[in-house]
Amino acid sequence: MLSDLAEAEKNVPIDIKTEYQRITKARGEDAMAQVEGECCGGCFQMITANMEADLRLEKAVFCKSCGCLLYLAEDSSL
Ligand SMILES: [Zn+2]
Repeated sequence: MLSDLAEAEKNVPIDIKTEYQRITKARGEDAMAQVEGECCGGCFQMITANMEADLRLEKAVFCKSCGCLLYLAEDSSL
């Protein structure tokens, strides 16, 4: 699973990398969730339009439900 985490890390915008590293240190590989469709890949709660907009601006966005740091898949077609 560590390779999955490393793979996910590549998608993390540089601006939020510090925040990301702080979180992964605290929470490990569960700290991140890829957005799948319009849902958090961790808990499958719908994300809001605001959250999606922030993700596109490469801001740090956290799932309101499970607290994961969200990121968009590189091939996302949202
Ligand atoms: Zn979630």
